[in-house]
Amino acid sequence: MNNKKKGGKLIVFSAPSGSGKTTIVQYLLKQPELNLEFSVSATSRKPREGEVAGKDYYFISLKEFKQHIKNNDFLEWEEVYRDNFYGTLKTEIERIWAKGKNVIFDIDVVGGLRIKKKFPKETLAVFVKPPSVDELKIRLKKRKTESEEKINMRIAKASVEMATAPQFDYIIENDELEKALKEAKELVFQFINNKPEESNKSSKKEE
Ligand code: 5GP
Repeated sequence: MNNKKKGGKLIVFSAPSGSGKTTIVQYLLKQPELNLEFSVSATSRKPREGEVAGKDYYFISLKEFKQHIKNNDFLEWEEVYRDNFYGTLKTEIERIWAKGKNVIFDIDVVGGLRIKKKFPKETLAVFVKPPSVDELKIRLKKRKTESEEKINMRIAKASVEMATAPQFDYIIENDELEKALKEAKELVFQFINNKPEESNKSSKKEE
């Protein structure tokens, strides 16, 4: 993949499952001035009710997923949960860059940091921090999309993921959604308009 030919920026939102990052990403996608398009990931997990193939994810079989790995088709991929593979296809970024748009990702922390490492200048990597692991559990239960076992799996992973927060460019604390949305919008706006000194002021970075 030629990273010199593209025009857009890469905006990564990573966080433990249930931290509210999807809500933030969906909100940002509705802001026309940010000129964002969602990077649709490929996954081997089954669709949840209401999810649309090609819009939320490219739902593919485990076999197909492994074939893409062999073919080196992924910019990054991860077995986020056992037998549940997720990955960003290189063609997805090329498709969005070809339109002159900025790409926004809703991916796990490992994938997010990998993209930042591959494209350090073009990427803004944001970690969305839930108020606490207990609160995360409450949110996941309310969502009612996962079994008790899956929820516990996600909670166990969340503690590990929280520890990676300092490696991100910015941390947004999502204890109050309205505030988090405003902060995210401002941050992305400043980044895509190349005003690093102002975006530094408008957000938190934990050292
Ligand atoms: P969910 O099953 O809740 O849709 O997603 C589970 C986790 O996988 C979330 O943290 C989500 O952000 C992450 N994820 C989604 N797509 C990708 C991807 O392309 N790459 C990686 N590394 N993680 C992803």
